[in-house]
Amino acid sequence: MVFFMKIGVIAIQGAVSEHVDALRRALAERGVDAEVVAIKHKGIVPKCGGIVIPGGESTTLCRLLAREGIAQEVKDAATRGIPILGTCAGLIVLAKEGDKQVEKTSQELLAIMDTKVNRNAFGRQRDSFEAELKVKILDSPFTGIFIRAPGIVSCGPGVRVLSKLEDLIIAAEQGNVLALAFHPELTGDLRIHQYFLDKIFKNTSNDRETTTI
Ligand code: GLN
Repeated sequence: MVFFMKIGVIAIQGAVSEHVDALRRALAERGVDAEVVAIKHKGIVPKCGGIVIPGGESTTLCRLLAREGIAQEVKDAATRGIPILGTCAGLIVLAKEGDKQVEKTSQELLAIMDTKVNRNAFGRQRDSFEAELKVKILDSPFTGIFIRAPGIVSCGPGVRVLSKLEDLIIAAEQGNVLALAFHPELTGDLRIHQYFLDKIFKNTSNDRETTTI
C-alpha cells in the first residue's frame, strides 16, 4: 500500500529540519511512502494528514503563524481531527491559556488544547537538561531533552496526562493532538514520532489518496 500523503512541519521559525529528518526516518522504518513538507506559507496545511509545530520562540511563532494566515488553517485542521504534534514552543502555541509572560507579550495562542502553560517552567538557571522520563504511551523510559522548556500547569478533563516532571505536565494528548515540553527530534529515539505516525495512519478523516500496488 502506498499513501500519497503529506505530513507538514511548520517551518517559519525554530527547530524544523530535525523534525523533518525524524519523520522521514520514522516513515522509512515502517516502509511507508509519505511526503514530509516544510510549511512556510498558507495553503499547505489543508493538504496535510499530520502537522508538527516545532520548538523555537513561541512569541515569534504565534505572531508569524497569525500573519501568514497559517494559524487559522491549523485550528481548522484540529477541528477536522488531523493529528498535530507540538514540541516545546509548539506546546505553548497549542495551549488555551498562558502565564503572565504570555499575556505581557500578547501572544495569540491557538487554543487547540485545554491547557494552561508556563513558558519557562523550569527556570532560567536550568536552561537545558536531560531527564529519563516515564511516558504513558511507551513501555520503557524516554530521554527527554529540555531546552528553556515550558510546562503545562493545569489542564481540562479532556486532556490525558502522559508524563510529569517536578509536578509539571511535560507530555499530554487531547484526542489527536499531542504536546511535549521536550525535544524528541533531538534524540535518535523515534518512538514518539512513530506514535504520532500511528495517529496519522489511523485517522480516517484525513484526505488521503490511497493506491494499492
Ligand atoms: N520557552 C520558549 C518559549 O517561550 C520555548 C523554548 C523551546 O522551544 N526550546 O518560546
